Amino acid sequence: MPSVGHHAILCDNLVKIYKVADLEVVALQGLDLVVEPGELIAVVGASGSGKSTLQNILGGVDTPTAGRVEVAGFDLTSLDEHRRTHYRRRIVGFVWQQTARNLLPYLTAAENVELPMTLDGVGRAERARRTEELLALVGLADRSGHRPDALSGGEQQRVAVATALANGPSVLLADEPTGELDTHSSNELFETLRVVNRETCVTIVVLTHDPLVSEQVQRTILIRDGRSAAETLRRLATGPEGEEQLVAEELAVLDRTGRLQLPPDYVAALSLERRVRLGLEHDHISIWPQERREGDGDR
Ligand code: ADP
Ligand code: MG
Repeated sequence: MPSVGHHAILCDNLVKIYKVADLEVVALQGLDLVVEPGELIAVVGASGSGKSTLQNILGGVDTPTAGRVEVAGFDLTSLDEHRRTHYRRRIVGFVWQQTARNLLPYLTAAENVELPMTLDGVGRAERARRTEELLALVGLADRSGHRPDALSGGEQQRVAVATALANGPSVLLADEPTGELDTHSSNELFETLRVVNRETCVTIVVLTHDPLVSEQVQRTILIRDGRSAAETLRRLATGPEGEEQLVAEELAVLDRTGRLQLPPDYVAALSLERRVRLGLEHDHISIWPQERREGDGDR
């Protein structure tokens, strides 16, 4: 296992089980995730796939049941209260889906951005300077005196991004940040996130149920049933006529024990069920539906 120093985020075989009365809900079941410093990635999964659970664990709000999780050199499974507070104030920034959870309604945009710095003991002049800089970064320099109810939903989320960046975190986590936005505002928010990512080098993880978001980032991790199932990588390639084109590459995720989740449409296309036949070729592996033989008594 590579050392923490090299990764912004490392989740290794992460498990989260919620106990509700005498029921157990497995929200994460062996999730692996590595994010490099300065990456902007999306984690995409259907409702109930474990995204918010992951956000809470990465944010130091909740602890995993088992597995390893390290963010910016902090081992989140063994933080004492003091280090946990430091971690939540300085190392990680949050944007929540509910716009109301991100901003205080009776404070202006500038006052919202300043608040985390005030709580952290940053001096007045430095606060003012940073607030101006951050609101400019998210393209809202001219809205600094507006309260949230005088801003559009998209503008509120961009103020939320500036607020989350106030104390210069290493990692920014955004749970469904576009959940309440229309397509136009959603595209604008992603443009803001790309600018922020480029200008400040903060590592950004966007968690969302919206698969189209993968068009907005270079790398998308698909989680299914609390586990990383596939990745989409987007990169510029040179086409046949020498022109630059964006290509998307789909990759399945292989876990440490060799488990692989096949895309549901592949499984359906060949009616794969229960068991498959594997063939090892010199440079690839083939998978066939199991042939039914006479005397197969297992169905
Ligand atoms: P997502 O954000 O992808 O919709 P969640 O992380 O919220 O998924 O939920 C994953 C699973 O864990 C779901 O089955 C959900 O019902 C369950 N779950 C989430 N939070 C709790 C909780 N506090 N107590 C019990 N079950 C929970
Ligand atoms: Mg959620």
